[in-house]
Amino acid sequence: MSAVASNPARQALVRALQATLGPSAVLTESGDLAAYAVDWRGRARGVPLAVVRPASTAEVAATVRLCAQAGAAIVPQGGNSGQCAGAVPSSDASQVVVSLARMNRIRSLDEQNNTLVAEAGCVLANIQEAAAAADRLFALSLGAEGSCQIGGNLSTNAGGTAVLRYGNARDLVLGLEVVLADGSVWDGLRGLRKDNTGYDLKQLFIGAEGTLGIITAAVLKLHPRPKSSATALIAVPNPSAALGLLDRFRAECGDRLTGLELISRNCFDILFKHIPRFTDPLSARYEWYVLAEMSDTLTSVDLRAIMESTLQDALESGLALDAVIAGSQGQAETLWAMRDEIPEANRRETPWVRHDVSVPVSRIPELIERGSQALRARFPDLRIVAFGHLGDGNIHFNASSALPAGAEDVIARQEEIYSIVHALVMTLGGSFSAEHGIGLVKAHEMARYKSPLELELMHRIKRALDPGGLMNPGKVLP
Ligand code: FAD
Ligand code: ZN
Repeated sequence: MSAVASNPARQALVRALQATLGPSAVLTESGDLAAYAVDWRGRARGVPLAVVRPASTAEVAATVRLCAQAGAAIVPQGGNSGQCAGAVPSSDASQVVVSLARMNRIRSLDEQNNTLVAEAGCVLANIQEAAAAADRLFALSLGAEGSCQIGGNLSTNAGGTAVLRYGNARDLVLGLEVVLADGSVWDGLRGLRKDNTGYDLKQLFIGAEGTLGIITAAVLKLHPRPKSSATALIAVPNPSAALGLLDRFRAECGDRLTGLELISRNCFDILFKHIPRFTDPLSARYEWYVLAEMSDTLTSVDLRAIMESTLQDALESGLALDAVIAGSQGQAETLWAMRDEIPEANRRETPWVRHDVSVPVSRIPELIERGSQALRARFPDLRIVAFGHLGDGNIHFNASSALPAGAEDVIARQEEIYSIVHALVMTLGGSFSAEHGIGLVKAHEMARYKSPLELELMHRIKRALDPGGLMNPGKVLP
């Protein structure tokens, strides 16, 4: 409270917020603020002026109006599971965190039009469940789905493990409701599949990481719910073979391939060490694995038979070394949980310099090989883990010291490590941020790798929608 107490203007803003939203919706005690002040990795810490927890779009709008009048910056926050510190405020107790957690209602589900209207604070898993209860699928799926919120997913244009089949968050939205930087409310909650009436404004807010406005609700696309699936964990000799396997799956089952993930062995070693409920599903050790899932809305298609014959061919041709096909839904869920818990196990192991990079799918093996060589040439003892969405050309390529005791040294060299990997990614025609966004930690990389014209266009959009520069300043744009 000291920074607030010593600044009458900030004090007045907090009082006005309390008077408008009620005292219980405005947190100011340091104990209450703690969870909102630090990112998932525990590495970026800020000090909020206050955390406001509005329960409705009108309350979000009132909050933004009061902040705009007071010239106070706003940091929207969803489940705070983001990987780039985009939801963390500055450390000078000047910024107001707006948590969307209380806006967690599913407003409606329209079976005929296959749409669902969710408030921004709905936890992703709850939306998936609501869709399933109506025999539909909401196709966004990622490791943080039990805590991340749809507003955060849309604001980071999240990807995840089903992008191969259904696309990323941007592909799953038909309309948005947004509170703009002056507190006005844009009602774009249209559920139309086709609407070519001028610029598609919702696309500006998707992936904007809260720098253009606060998303308060969204019309989401639902898909038919798959009725059958086949999931396998496959040991492969190297990433090139994994790519060969991807081609083989595509040829055998086409669009039924829902996800295809690549995992380096050391990810599993770290997983088994920190989350002992998991054990190795295969009897021998291999250097690389693929987790693949096919699914179909028809039960008449024998996906297990397709999986078996594809893997048989792959084993004979040397693309695969060993494989286990899940024998039940429970086993399939365990294989996916192993994949989903890799980031958490990594977090418990040691700090990492994390890369969330994409290249054309065909160049993933080159990225991993050249990236590892270049890093080890500079830092001979580096540990490197690689896992992620091979089918999308998106790999999480993370580096740390050989010994946990030396980990901090590696974090101190983060910029040097970034520059080695990101420069390679750019030569391979890729992106230095595939699905996690930019936030605070990669804003400077925008200046390095985006063209001046692209950056200027982004700044013009920012100035047009947020002339006062109060929406999540310091994030995304350098
Ligand atoms: P936050 O972290 O709270 O916020 C993220 C950004 O969005 C911030 O800039 C914030 O200001 C802004 N924001 C939040 N809500 C709003 C809103 N309503 N309006 C405007 N701006 C808002 N990501 C992937 O893409 N694919 C993955 O496979 C994946 N796996 C993950 C696994 C784990 C274990 C974890 C911890 C994270 C993973 N992520 C993944 C990161 C991912 O970005 C987030 O999990 C999720 O999309 C962010 O949602 P959130 O509600 O936690 O957002
Ligand atoms: Zn990912």
